[in-house]
Amino acid sequence: MERKTISLPRLTKLTPTLESTMLKITEEVGELAQAIGKFRGLSGERDKKDEAEVVRAIVTELLDVAQTATSMMFVIEDLYGIDISAEMERHVEKLRRKNYL
Ligand SMILES: [Mg+2]
Repeated sequence: MERKTISLPRLTKLTPTLESTMLKITEEVGELAQAIGKFRGLSGERDKKDEAEVVRAIVTELLDVAQTATSMMFVIEDLYGIDISAEMERHVEKLRRKNYL
């Protein structure tokens, strides 16, 4: 099974909450949608950028989404004592059960 391992830091100069990270994730998902749609000229607006610029924007926003999701994982671990590593194994098992792997 091919895997992509992502290691992102806990943000030490912010105090994220479940609600603030949820809002931030939606904001970052919106920016990712903007990069994939608007900047590639798919929204009908005239704000099209060149391909290299679009790819860079997509990757930047995708990592913002991953960072925010990571921050939410730290919040959930702190609040509820959940072991995200164990949950990741359950997640992969779920993917197997659904026949995605
Ligand atoms: Mg962003």
